[in-house]
Amino acid sequence: MLTARVIEVFSSLQGEGIYAGRPHLFVRFWNCNLACRYCDTDYRGPYRESSLSELLAEVRRQVDSAGPFHAVSLTGGEPLLWWRFLKEWLPRLKALGQRAYLETNGTLTDPLREILPWIDIVAMDLKPPSATGDRPLWEEHEAFLRAGVEAGRDLFVKVVVTAETADDEVRQAVDLVGRVDRGIPFVLQPVTPWGPVREGPEEQQLGRWRSWAAGRLADVRVIPQMHRIWGVP
Ligand code: SF4
Repeated sequence: MLTARVIEVFSSLQGEGIYAGRPHLFVRFWNCNLACRYCDTDYRGPYRESSLSELLAEVRRQVDSAGPFHAVSLTGGEPLLWWRFLKEWLPRLKALGQRAYLETNGTLTDPLREILPWIDIVAMDLKPPSATGDRPLWEEHEAFLRAGVEAGRDLFVKVVVTAETADDEVRQAVDLVGRVDRGIPFVLQPVTPWGPVREGPEEQQLGRWRSWAAGRLADVRVIPQMHRIWGVP
């Protein structure tokens, strides 16, 4: 039987990106293929093994009791690790009349292609090496972004920036998005201090990055992570 490991299903306000403030139903999937330094999610925490019908019933219950929602947000961890499950589950979610919003680290292009027909909104993170503490992922990110754009999806890109983010990393992120489509909304998200990350970027850094990005891209925004400001999960 096809199952997925689901950590939690909960309703809240979308706290990141261009849809911040919209009511979303979050489905958090287990595990991630990256290990970012500033990660604030226990993506290998306790989970339950959910079947297609069990997860659908849970979503339906939440929609009935706490909806309507702007979208059902697939989050993690990295939800695309569960693409086989999602490929079967998403058509059933769409049959309920729900919008599917994918929160992703933008590295798994083949899994994305498998489920894109049922995804309405792609919220893609760009991860500079200073965020992951690992090798650059620019090629993976560009292929991913192109796949989403070619499919005509509503899509935006978000870069979490810290005091350690290098100027060159922001330039590379901006260039990458510009090569694909300069009209893609580009969000600079100052990190929320957490764990080993003690402070966000300085105002001067943020101003410099914003103005570079605005010189190359059509839609640049600075939006902090709102959950902690609002005090919601
Ligand atoms: S991609 Fe997201 S969930 Fe995965 S380690 Fe990075 S911040 Fe955490």
